[in-house]
Amino acid sequence: MPSRETAVSIARRLRAAGHEALFAGGCVRDRLRDSPPKDYDIATSARPEEVSALFARTLPVGAAFGVVLVIEGEEQVEVATFREDLGIADGRHPKGVRFSDARRDALRRDFTVNGMFEDPESGEVIDFVGGREDLRARTVRAIGDPALRFREDRLRMLRAVRFAVVLDFRIERETLRAVREQAAWIADVSAERVRDELTKILRSGRGGRGLGLLFDTGLLEAILPEVAALDGVPQPARFHPEGDVLTHTRMLLDGVRGGGEEVALAALLHDVGKVPTLEMKEGRPAFPRHAQVGAGMAEGILRRLRYPNRMIEQVVDLVDRHMDWPQLKQMREAKRRRLLLREDLPLHMELHRLDCGACHGDLSVHAYALEERRRLEEEPPPVKPLLTGHDLIGMGFAPGPAFKVMLEAIVDAQLEGSVRDAEEARAFVRARYGGGAS
Ligand code: ATP
Ligand code: MG
Repeated sequence: MPSRETAVSIARRLRAAGHEALFAGGCVRDRLRDSPPKDYDIATSARPEEVSALFARTLPVGAAFGVVLVIEGEEQVEVATFREDLGIADGRHPKGVRFSDARRDALRRDFTVNGMFEDPESGEVIDFVGGREDLRARTVRAIGDPALRFREDRLRMLRAVRFAVVLDFRIERETLRAVREQAAWIADVSAERVRDELTKILRSGRGGRGLGLLFDTGLLEAILPEVAALDGVPQPARFHPEGDVLTHTRMLLDGVRGGGEEVALAALLHDVGKVPTLEMKEGRPAFPRHAQVGAGMAEGILRRLRYPNRMIEQVVDLVDRHMDWPQLKQMREAKRRRLLLREDLPLHMELHRLDCGACHGDLSVHAYALEERRRLEEEPPPVKPLLTGHDLIGMGFAPGPAFKVMLEAIVDAQLEGSVRDAEEARAFVRARYGGGAS
């Protein structure tokens, strides 16, 4: 948690040296909506080298853009020189930046609610772009001409969706129209930048609304055509009263809470296999092996978006197994135990819970699995018989299938307390099974 005091003291030091220093962007927005900011960003008239000279520990993070990280103990604050971005060449990177003043620094920012400054000492809001009004109206609106702003940096289209779902705001009409017009150009943005925005959308708690916005604007078709293809894919009404597969997926995503990034991604991708596997059986849609087919597709999609390998493995496994859980009660004991004792069972169960919640709502397997898991974990370690097969041979018994029965009987006697050591075990065996040489 960043402390406001640290950020204020850094701003004070800049001001004492004769520079302007203002809180900027997200932290101003978040203070105005009474939400704790993730971090404090300071915008200043000081040049990067002047910032570095004023503080004991600094790190140039975006020297070309005039961004210096000031480190105070455990805390870090980004201090960025007021700037304007010069003619963006390719929808990805500005051709260059020019150091500038606060007003022009506000105008280069993406959305009005992200374009405000705050006097760190008096708390006064400095708003060149109408951000306060849009915050009140819960609106994401591009600063300036939206079409132009998205042409400068196509990622802003995804950011518009991200802020709309994270803040639970609507997207202003012209801004939304510009996203629709330019959606296909999102392909120009690096996979890593797309990935980071996508993750924030999926984990917002309103991922279903996010997926709907991505679909309606055409962004989904451009970044995840496999998911866009779920639109209109029919499902048997008996199991899926909610409708087509895209609707079902949206419902899952609206339910995502904890569970982490892996569960959110698995919720997004769990049914992508339903497109290639769809077949009509007696007039009803069926999707044989869609979990396994979908797992393979999920792997390709997540690689393309450059998710880390360990995360890909986990998501693929979640997708691959998501149809196994309904059969849990009928499984062979060994397989059932193995699944129930998996370390990642809670993730599988979270996906299963979301999946059920988005159609029939039956959570009996979920409750059963977690209860059984608890029971298995509490079970004492298995009791070993006090005698071995070798001991039985030593007693004169001929090795064979009867050994298993005899050893189990010894264990039962141990559990009952009638056999407490090897000698008593031998006596028990002799009494019960006679035979053998003594
Ligand atoms: P969060 O709470 O998610 O960190 P934030 O508003 O701080 O939200 P950041 O991505 O950290 O968002 O960016 C910080 C600020 O920089 C934004 O508030 C915005 O003013 C500006 N900004 C970030 N990315 C862009 C962009 N692609 N185009 C224009 N301005 C941007
Ligand atoms: Mg931020």
